[in-house]
Amino acid sequence: MKTILIVLVAALPLAARWKAGVSRIDITPTEPVWMAGYGNRTKPSEGVRQKIWVKALALEDNSGARAVLVTSDLLGFNKEMSEAVSRRAREKYKLERDKIAINSSHTHSAPVTGMVLRPAYPITPEHEPAIQRYTEKLLNQTVDAIGAALADLQPATLSFGQSNAGFAANRRRVSLRHLPGPVDHDVPVMVVRGGDNKARAIVFGYACHATALSDYQINGDWPGFAQAVIEKANPGAAALFVAGAGADANPLPRRTVELAEHYGMVAAEAVAQAMKAKMVPVAGPLKTAFQTVDLAFAQIPTREELERRVATADPPAKRHAKFLLDRMTPDGKLWDRYPYPVQVWQFGSALKMIILGGELVVDYSLRLKAQYGWGNTWIAGYSNDVFAYIPSVRVLKEGGYEGGGAMIPYGQPGPFHPAVEETIIEMVERLVKRTAGQ
Ligand SMILES: [Zn+2]
Repeated sequence: MKTILIVLVAALPLAARWKAGVSRIDITPTEPVWMAGYGNRTKPSEGVRQKIWVKALALEDNSGARAVLVTSDLLGFNKEMSEAVSRRAREKYKLERDKIAINSSHTHSAPVTGMVLRPAYPITPEHEPAIQRYTEKLLNQTVDAIGAALADLQPATLSFGQSNAGFAANRRRVSLRHLPGPVDHDVPVMVVRGGDNKARAIVFGYACHATALSDYQINGDWPGFAQAVIEKANPGAAALFVAGAGADANPLPRRTVELAEHYGMVAAEAVAQAMKAKMVPVAGPLKTAFQTVDLAFAQIPTREELERRVATADPPAKRHAKFLLDRMTPDGKLWDRYPYPVQVWQFGSALKMIILGGELVVDYSLRLKAQYGWGNTWIAGYSNDVFAYIPSVRVLKEGGYEGGGAMIPYGQPGPFHPAVEETIIEMVERLVKRTAGQ
């Protein structure tokens, strides 16, 4: 018996020498609450079409290095929320900041969280307590999900593959027909299997807004439907969706439940096909890095300018001006730069996850994959801090909503300085170097 065991252990490929733990916690609101993503909703939620979730995947390589990926059916976590979660994860579980990545699907059919995208909404004071209750509970649940995943660590194998899905359309071309319409149709998939070789977690990504639906029913939009289909097809496994660089992509056409479910099915089928094809075993070591880099804004409005807007602008611009005036220092100063979170997780030589904040336009995905490898680079956006759109220089020059207009609903002082793209690319490069090597 002893001999057989030794032979088995010796035969295990390096890829097998992981431990993984998985958890999922229901974050469906239990009362009507204002919904995130669209400025034209005029009342709180009226029901639940589908439960929404926060999920966590804890990974530990054979040297004991750990990381926890958190995914959520939400519009986004901002800096304050992610910091609250990671501070508590450090205290409770001794996890450092670089070892926690918090991604959101960017569904536009989940509750408003914290102060994310606040100037977008015509929220009146009586609706604030429900948002605060929801956010507070969510932060507790997120910390609990991280703890539950760590408590669940057990031997596992990891594998990686990719397929494609075609429903993301470059949405800037809807109104600006002359623009180029780049998209990223890759569907990266990481499968975590237990000792019995059954899938325990299926992590997948796609670069597209979760905006098929826009009514008053809580749901995960197409990523929510995709996760439900994947979990049904793989009993016992949790499906975790990681939003990519889909800031300028929408699922088109859209706005019916049938279409949202259809895109969910298409994404789930892409995942199934990636799993049926030959996947690459993922070995350690796991190397992680996290650092913020300041992104400068191009121009900052003065108090006089903001007061003029409060008096004369349309409602969103008026709310934006008030939002900034409330946050202005007594001597009339606003923040002129923003600490942008960059994170890299390197899994041996098989996979590099570049995990970035904000609503990242597709150019970042295409550029970084061209630079680091189409076959083993995974770009996540909407991670750790959803606070603005992150245009490339191309999109910044073209202008429009993603190029600068969206700074209004996000409550930022103005468009980014054109250095935005190189600043991010350079910080990614630093963290890639830091996580390189065995
Ligand atoms: Zn968005």
